[in-house]
Amino acid sequence: MPLKEKVDYLLKAGYLLTLESDEPERGWAVAVKGALIHDLGPYPEMALKYDPAMETGGEHKLLMPGFVNTHTHAPMVYLRGIADDLPLKDWLEKHIWPLEAKWLGPEFVEDATRLACLEMMRAGITTFCDMYFYGESAARSVKELGMRAVIAAGIVDFPTRVARTCEEYLARAEDFIRNFLKDELTRPAIAPHSVYTCGPESLKKAVGLAEKYNIIIPIHVSETRWELEESNRLYGQTTIKFLEKLGVLSKRIVAAHCVWVDDDEIDILARREVGVSHCIESNLKLASGIAPVPKMLARGVKVTFGTDGAASNNDLNIMGEIATSAKVHKALSEDPTVLPSRTAIKMATLWGAEALGLGGKTGSIKKGKAADLIMLDLDKPRLTPMYNAWSHLVYAALPSDVESVMVNGKLLMHERKVLAADEQAILARAREWAARISG
Ligand SMILES: [Zn+2]
Repeated sequence: MPLKEKVDYLLKAGYLLTLESDEPERGWAVAVKGALIHDLGPYPEMALKYDPAMETGGEHKLLMPGFVNTHTHAPMVYLRGIADDLPLKDWLEKHIWPLEAKWLGPEFVEDATRLACLEMMRAGITTFCDMYFYGESAARSVKELGMRAVIAAGIVDFPTRVARTCEEYLARAEDFIRNFLKDELTRPAIAPHSVYTCGPESLKKAVGLAEKYNIIIPIHVSETRWELEESNRLYGQTTIKFLEKLGVLSKRIVAAHCVWVDDDEIDILARREVGVSHCIESNLKLASGIAPVPKMLARGVKVTFGTDGAASNNDLNIMGEIATSAKVHKALSEDPTVLPSRTAIKMATLWGAEALGLGGKTGSIKKGKAADLIMLDLDKPRLTPMYNAWSHLVYAALPSDVESVMVNGKLLMHERKVLAADEQAILARAREWAARISG
């Protein structure tokens, strides 16, 4: 009998969604070696070929790529629930920005990012795009917990605790970018906050840095009616038309929200291959409006899902975003065929990875890609029987069904137990911070 090849893991699944094909593979297994997906195929063949250090999974498990959260402000988990039921402008100016001015610092970001990673991991998210300040501190926690992230250095035109002038923000951002450019798990990015907080000069300089280092640019775009009016007042045109005229729209841009966009602007987004992060629950809760996602998809815009920060959502749960979007857009269009479940799962995995410039590395299950995988337990009343895996994922499954999470070949959670960190210590730290913040 030929000698079996040693691998680290053999993950067995009743249903395997590779996202490379439209139908689930039944009774397959994935072999993981080091950080990578080494092989996949029918379980009996894989069991003959490989000698795994650990074999897990089974008939009633669903294995798929981890979810990709394309827009969040991870450290804002420490401000969750502190100010709700307010319009975006009041919420930001009267509550969030003053609180950030008082508390924001490297320690806050490092501690809060740990909590956010824990929450995302438990919800099956393996990659996220973060937009905040003190990126080094966020990166430290992301690496410690073993998640994959694009961490964007935030730029605004007004002084904060981080920097005083645009030049200072840019210099800090460039230091951060240089330090993390070759990092495996935490990729740097640069994030001018929006057109109403960053003028044309800052925007152009941010794009210049992104081009120099070949990184992406997350930015808030057309989030509220107020922003639309403000852009018209400041620049005589809407956000997207202004950005187009400035020459900054490209594949590098991950535009969060895009709620207030007309048909011409959707065409611009499609032509420039801009990635859109749809954050429906944040938009619903702040009453910002609802992005015309079915129209964007019909015109070929790459729409993905973002949770936005936990202070505006209020959770970091992509499965919730998918379920809400799939239903709201059907109701709004009076058409149950829009945003079908398979499309929604693609938006939440492969397209999310592609929008973040990580499509070659993660977002689907393919030989040679990083082993960023999640396993769901189907052995539950809510998920039995299962006729259609895509449908169950969108309309029936919950984050608590995510049983195991692997990032870059490392098992971070198994059978709902977090292996990557001391969960209780992270929760205790969050309570300490809350006691300080609430005085
Ligand atoms: Zn945001």
